[in-house]
Amino acid sequence: MRDVSGSSFGRRPGFLAVLCVAALAWIYGVAFGPAAAEGLTPSQKLAFDVYKELVEINTVTATGDTATAAEAMGARLRAAGFAEDDVHVFSPAPHKGNLVARFRGTGARKPILLVAHIDVVPASREDWSMDPFKLIEQDGYFYARGSGDDKFMAASFIANLIRYKQEGYKPERDIIVALETDEEILDRDALGIQWLLKNHRDLIDAEFALNEGGGVGLKDGKPIRNSVQTSEKVSLSYALTVKNKGGHSALPVKDNAIYRLAAGLTRLAAFSFPVSLNETTRAYFERTAQMEGGQLADDLRAVLSGQTDPASVPVARLSANPSYNAQLRTTCVATMLEGGSAVNALPQLATAKVNCRIMPGEPVDGVKATLERVLADDQIVVTQIDQPTLSAPSALSDNIIGPITKLSAEFWPGAVVLPIMSAGATDGSYLRNAGIPTYGHSGLAGDVGESRAHGRDERILVKSFFDGDEYLYRLVKALSGGQ
Ligand SMILES: [Zn+2]
Repeated sequence: MRDVSGSSFGRRPGFLAVLCVAALAWIYGVAFGPAAAEGLTPSQKLAFDVYKELVEINTVTATGDTATAAEAMGARLRAAGFAEDDVHVFSPAPHKGNLVARFRGTGARKPILLVAHIDVVPASREDWSMDPFKLIEQDGYFYARGSGDDKFMAASFIANLIRYKQEGYKPERDIIVALETDEEILDRDALGIQWLLKNHRDLIDAEFALNEGGGVGLKDGKPIRNSVQTSEKVSLSYALTVKNKGGHSALPVKDNAIYRLAAGLTRLAAFSFPVSLNETTRAYFERTAQMEGGQLADDLRAVLSGQTDPASVPVARLSANPSYNAQLRTTCVATMLEGGSAVNALPQLATAKVNCRIMPGEPVDGVKATLERVLADDQIVVTQIDQPTLSAPSALSDNIIGPITKLSAEFWPGAVVLPIMSAGATDGSYLRNAGIPTYGHSGLAGDVGESRAHGRDERILVKSFFDGDEYLYRLVKALSGGQ
């Protein structure tokens, strides 16, 4: 820069300086992304560096390498002075890796577990506006596959563990970080969280866990809610089968496997499970009513006050919205259909598959009986076709919600702390199933109308990254109560 401004263009140094800064910002900011890394505190710089390293390792579940990512995070911890015994990198299959690290406290209380998955869903360069496996900073955002889901949490947990170590922090309980693989495929090969629970339960055993699943919602840039996911519905599927002796289609009879099944499915379509609230959905409805006001608030309050008759107007209105309907009750819906074997033969077999999402903590056995009652035809045989991962809701206890509420008010004033139940499933269900209460809570703020996780040009706000990192640093300190 000095060379240029000393040249014949030196009479316009201001203009040139602007040009140079713009050029440098373009070269470094757009191409390499360290603009955010300038003017950072040492701890912000550390978080940024760990994050950049992690998102730039391709960890697509089927084709990437979570073992390399787990090893890289392990190496950072060892370099920061963590003992070999406290940093474990496991590779249960080629290219698959899990990391478990422990920051030791006084042992006065049972450990806290911080969980993040390091695998990501696929992303192709052709679909994206940029390379999905480079950390790009642009327009106030960090772009990369996994930038929000879930490498923000993974990087923040690692960077903060190093920060605690550097400070000589002594918590009252051990702080365990587990970075796991295969969450994006629901750990179907049992190489991620299930592998850790089965083979190294002792290393990850904790009083409770923090995981992904709840973040801060911004509306027009203002924080309106800070979610805590405490429970998930239980997924369970059934086959409905009707058998018949069949015959020639030229001689039809009234007793037809397809008709019987169709009639049963029509009865199922008209049926709704009874309204059933739990601690989380009650709190969710109460606080949503506070936030929203109007007709919606009136309907939610009617249900909260015990008006749960499905024919009542408030319940009917809420049930018409798929999101609220899923919070109100167990649902079962037909998703697959098959029947007959030839166009000129009466069907000997007709089957449908039905997927149910059962309210957590409710007995699943009753669902099959309900289906049989609603189908109302003993020729329709109902068979359970998969095994549920049962998970009771994690309690909204004061020693967890208290510190969250206090700290949230400091970081995002006015945002309502909102307990939520997921209608879908995350790996939190495996932890809850294993008796470790789990709270989905990231401190990562994003616009409520924008969801790019799993989509193209996944991104998070740069400001949200640094705020969220500091929030998690402080929250884990508050929850681990040392000095
Ligand atoms: Zn995720």
